[in-house]
Amino acid sequence: MLKIYNTLTKEKSDFKPIEKDKVKMYVCGPTVYDSPHIGHARSAYVFETARKYFEYIGFKVVLVRNVTDVDDKIINKAAGELEKTSGIDAGYALREKCREVAKRYLDEYHKAMDSLDIRRPDHEPKATENINEMIRFIEALLKKDHAYRAGGNVYFSVESFDKYGELSGQDARNMRSGPRADADGDKRHQLDFALWKKVKSGEPSWGSPWGEGRPGWHIECSVMSTVILGHEFDIHGGGLDLVFPHHENEKAQAEAKTGSAFAHVWMHNGFLTVRGAKMSKSLGNFITVEDYFKKHPDPDLLKIIFLSSHYRSPVDYSEDKVKEAAAAKARITRFIKNVELEIERDPSKNVPIPDRDASVSSFRRAMNDDFNTPDALSAIFEAVQSGNNFLTNGKTKEACRERNFIVKCADILGLSLKVQDVDKRSAGEIESLVAEREIARGRKAFQEADAIRERLKEMGVEIEDTSEGTIWRKN
Ligand code: AMP
Ligand code: ZN
Repeated sequence: MLKIYNTLTKEKSDFKPIEKDKVKMYVCGPTVYDSPHIGHARSAYVFETARKYFEYIGFKVVLVRNVTDVDDKIINKAAGELEKTSGIDAGYALREKCREVAKRYLDEYHKAMDSLDIRRPDHEPKATENINEMIRFIEALLKKDHAYRAGGNVYFSVESFDKYGELSGQDARNMRSGPRADADGDKRHQLDFALWKKVKSGEPSWGSPWGEGRPGWHIECSVMSTVILGHEFDIHGGGLDLVFPHHENEKAQAEAKTGSAFAHVWMHNGFLTVRGAKMSKSLGNFITVEDYFKKHPDPDLLKIIFLSSHYRSPVDYSEDKVKEAAAAKARITRFIKNVELEIERDPSKNVPIPDRDASVSSFRRAMNDDFNTPDALSAIFEAVQSGNNFLTNGKTKEACRERNFIVKCADILGLSLKVQDVDKRSAGEIESLVAEREIARGRKAFQEADAIRERLKEMGVEIEDTSEGTIWRKN
C-alpha cells in the first residue's frame, strides 16, 4: 500500500483515493514572468514522478497545474520593458505588454519542461481565464461573512475561520491575537489577505461587483482546483515555500466557503539549493533550464540528481553532482550495453522485456514508502551489480532479468537511459571501448587502457575517471 506524508497531518499514512482507482491532483504552477530555472524543474518532476508511479500501480490520474498570468511580478516586468508611454495609451500599452510577457514565459516554461521530457498536465488553467469563477467564489465568502470589503478591496477574514494555521502547524489563537493594524491601513487583521484588489492606474483589471480590480493570488488556486476537480480532491502539491501563506490561505478560503474538506493530502517538495540557499530569481543564484541544457544536453543527469534525495529534502546542485550522476548513469547504460552484446552473440539467451509485469518488488517497496526515490535508485544499482556478476559468470538469462527490471524502473522514473546525442552505432562503439578500457585498468594493463583512451580521443571522445566510474563526452 502506498503511504504518503501529508503536511496537514504531519504523518505518513495509507493513500486512500476519494474515487476508486482515480487520483485527482492539483499542483501550483509557475508565475510566468521570467525564464524557468532548474528549481522549477524539480517541482514539476517530483509531481510528474508521483503521477507516473500512480499510473504504474493502476490509477487514472487527473493532474491540474495552474499558470499565474496576472501578478505584481508580471506587471513590474512589463512596466520595465515598456518605453515610457503616457496618456490614454499608457494603460493599454501596459496591459498588452503584460499579456506578451506572460505568453513569452509560459512558452519558455513549456519548452523547458518538454526538453526535460516532463509531460504536461491534463489541465493547465490560467488565472486570467477564470475571473468570473473567482468573482462568484468571493461573493460566496462575503455572503458567509468570511470576507469583507474595505477601500475598494475585498479581504478574507482569518478571524472568521477556526482552522486557520492548521496546515502550517501554527496556533490559530496566537495568530488571531496578532496585531490588527497594518501598513495598507484598511485590513482588520494583519494576516487578512486580499481576495480582490482594487485597480491601480494602467494595470490589467476586470469589472466586479466591487469595482475594477484583479483577484489576489491565493483565490486563483482555490477556484481553479475546485472548478476542475470538484470541491474535494485527493492531492494538492507545490514547493515547501507555498505552505504558508499560499496554501494555508487556499485551504481557508475553500473550506470556509463550503464548510467541508478541500484537498485530502498536501504534498510539498523540498528546494533545489545552491550552496545551501534556495535557487530563486530573487537571490540571483539560478540556472535556467536552457543554460543547464547547453552545458549538459541530457535530462537524465538532472533527474538522477533529483532522485538521489527524497522529494521532501533539499537537493544541492553542483557540477560535481552532475559528474556523479553521469557516472551513475554510465554504470547503468554500460551494463545494458554489455547485456545486448551478449544477446547479439547468442540470441537464444535473451529474456524479452515484458510489457508491464517485470517483477519490481524492491522498487515498489521503496516508492510505496512516500515515493522514496533514493531507495528506488539503490534498487536499480543493486540490479546493475548483480547483473554484472551474472554476466561475469556467463549467466546471460539472469542478467537479462536484471536488465528488464532496470528498464522498467527507469521508465517509471522518466529516465530515458539514452546515451549522449550521438548516433546509436557510435554510442554503442564508444560504450564498448570505455567498458574494454575499464576491464584493462582492472587487470592493471595500463598500456592497453591508454591505447584505448587514445583511440577514443581520435574519435573526438574525452573521458574522465571519477570516483563513481568513467564518464565520456563527445566533442
Ligand atoms: P514560482 O513560479 O516561483 O511560483 O514557482 C513554481 C513552483 O516551483 C512552485 O511550486 C514553487 O514552490 C516551485 N519552486 C520554485 N523554486 C524552487 C526551488 N528552488 N526548488 C524547488 N521548487 C521550487
Ligand atoms: Zn497555488
